[in-house]
Amino acid sequence: MTTKKSAELFEKAKNYFPGGVNSPVRAFRSVGGNPLFIEKGKGSHIWDVDGNEYIDFCCSWGPLILGHANNTVLNAVDKTMRNGTSFGAPTRLENELANLILSNNKFIEKLRFVSSGTEAVMSAIRLARGFTKRDKILKFEGCYHGHADSLLVKAGSGLVTFGNSSSDGVPASFVNETISVPLHNKEAVKEAFLKFKNEIACVIIEPVPANNGLLLQGKEFLEFLRIICTENKTLLLFDEVISGFRLSFCGAAGLFNIKPDIITYGKIIGGGFPVGAYGASKEIMSCVSPEGAVYQAGTLSGNPVAMSAGIAQLSQCLANNFYNDLEAKTNYLVDGIMKLNSFKLFKMFKLGSIFWIAFTDKKTITSADDIDPNSMSYFKILYHSLLENGVYLGPSGYEVGFLSSAHSYEDLDKTIKAFGIGLKKLN
Ligand SMILES: *Cc1c(COP(=O)(O)O)cnc(C)c1O
Repeated sequence: MTTKKSAELFEKAKNYFPGGVNSPVRAFRSVGGNPLFIEKGKGSHIWDVDGNEYIDFCCSWGPLILGHANNTVLNAVDKTMRNGTSFGAPTRLENELANLILSNNKFIEKLRFVSSGTEAVMSAIRLARGFTKRDKILKFEGCYHGHADSLLVKAGSGLVTFGNSSSDGVPASFVNETISVPLHNKEAVKEAFLKFKNEIACVIIEPVPANNGLLLQGKEFLEFLRIICTENKTLLLFDEVISGFRLSFCGAAGLFNIKPDIITYGKIIGGGFPVGAYGASKEIMSCVSPEGAVYQAGTLSGNPVAMSAGIAQLSQCLANNFYNDLEAKTNYLVDGIMKLNSFKLFKMFKLGSIFWIAFTDKKTITSADDIDPNSMSYFKILYHSLLENGVYLGPSGYEVGFLSSAHSYEDLDKTIKAFGIGLKKLN
């Protein structure tokens, strides 16, 4: 297997982009080696510029729940763009996608389309602050909410402290409005509400944290958050950019049947195009401009090409048994791999069509602190062995894998075999 052309392109890219990439994890720094430059994708498979073929479990980091180049999505996009790609005026397609989402979702009544997950979360936080007239937000260590300033905050030293910025360029005064606590820790949340009584605008959580490993919280912790937020007139914000339309059509809210006050979406919603959204009750959404005083806008918001891709993708997600089939495939994959597993620290965690590979002797991993950074050395070895055997995962042990409806059982059998080979290299 040669990856010479990818290596050459990466050398060139380093002249153009910081680290040679337009988003950091793509640079392969945590697994070593050069990133693969991708030429094309079809269904569950991708091909790099050197002609190597892989079964893809990255799926563009989640958006491609139907796999690559889905025919229905491509046809919709093609048809729409022939009439022009953007108008900066309303189109029928925005109504259509909104209706598709809202008529199948009992948790939100209105929404607003934006162009990325980051933008959705940033806008949702502003809305929570505008609605409650409070400034502070509470987030959890180990959840990722995009790269808005007030969310690039990691926990400080105490249980309930203001965090530290996790990026240069974020003013301390911003960070001081963000309280960061460990996941799956009721005491820390209770303490924060005591310490900052009537100051917390919203609690933001990935209901199924899947950006720093898969840190399954369970229904009970989320129910606890629902109750404590209601008691304190604090809004509960589910960031479902990754879990929305993934764990069920209504995301984790639907799976657990818990109603947050605001929900953010991204990834799957745009059918592979840059779309995000935030939604809430009519009352909360009425605060958003031009109805209300919370400003938020976007030149390409509700872009017709992206809307038509979203409509084509989400319509297919509404098919009978769509999510059951995805889950069955995921179970088949994980069970198959675990049967072959020859390395005692190797574990797989899963929910719906999301899986995560961990190296640990712990039975469960529910907070960021539970992950041993040294375990990533095992992931590196496994990762490169999988590539050599035609299986592509996101290039970091902190990233989860995704199944799409395009993955066949034949793909899964091949993947199980590739894992068997890779796991033997760890002993
Ligand atoms: C991916 C992700 C984001 C950021 O979305 P972008 O489209 O990359 O800006 C925010 N929150 C969660 C939970 C995500 O998974």
